[in-house]
Amino acid sequence: MNFDNKGLIFIISGPAGSGKSTIVKKLLATGRFEFSVSATTRAPRPGEEDGVQYHFITHEKFDEMLKDDMFLEHAEYVGNCYGTPKKPVEDWVNAGKNVILEIEVIGALQVKEKKPEAIMIFITPPDAETLEARLRGRGTEDEAHLLGRLAKARREFESFDKYDYAVINEQESADKAAEVVLKILDAEEHRTSCNKTLFENFFN
Ligand code: 5GP
Repeated sequence: MNFDNKGLIFIISGPAGSGKSTIVKKLLATGRFEFSVSATTRAPRPGEEDGVQYHFITHEKFDEMLKDDMFLEHAEYVGNCYGTPKKPVEDWVNAGKNVILEIEVIGALQVKEKKPEAIMIFITPPDAETLEARLRGRGTEDEAHLLGRLAKARREFESFDKYDYAVINEQESADKAAEVVLKILDAEEHRTSCNKTLFENFFN
């Protein structure tokens, strides 16, 4: 909570294997954030439910939403389209609720351009070796795919310095990384820019 009663937008990015989804789950469990459910044209994975992890939609529907200016940002990622529906994010922010956008870097930069107050957090393992070991540990991909993901991670790192915060996710320490994000939230909520009403009303 802050005096202006405006929610904050938290953009969370990081390469595949950074552990960002686990951290986001822990953050959502605190009840201090809403989750922006993206629209995507990719097929659901086993266990994924429409409207929970994503809104799974067709390319036609995606194009229609794009044309109707319904996305806050959108990007393509390994052949699929992803977009953040604008309205829920704006409604939550106006209702004083913090929102997490778990999105890749191209979309993240679009949000920052439109909403400079958004807080950008880059989640990463401590080094490339750990990243590679985590991706290999999943055991779900062949060598070509794995190398593709590593190359993608390298490209994502090129935008590292555009982010406000780097949160290092050490081995088995998603709890710690989530705590760091909560500290960032505490600090951000104390910005004077989030508490202008305190100043305006103080002597009235
Ligand atoms: P996945 O298909 O593995 O769930 O997600 C692939 C990538 O797309 C991840 O980096 C994820 O953070 C990102 N992503 C998910 N939703 C969105 C979105 O709405 N916009 C953008 N730009 N990226 C997204």
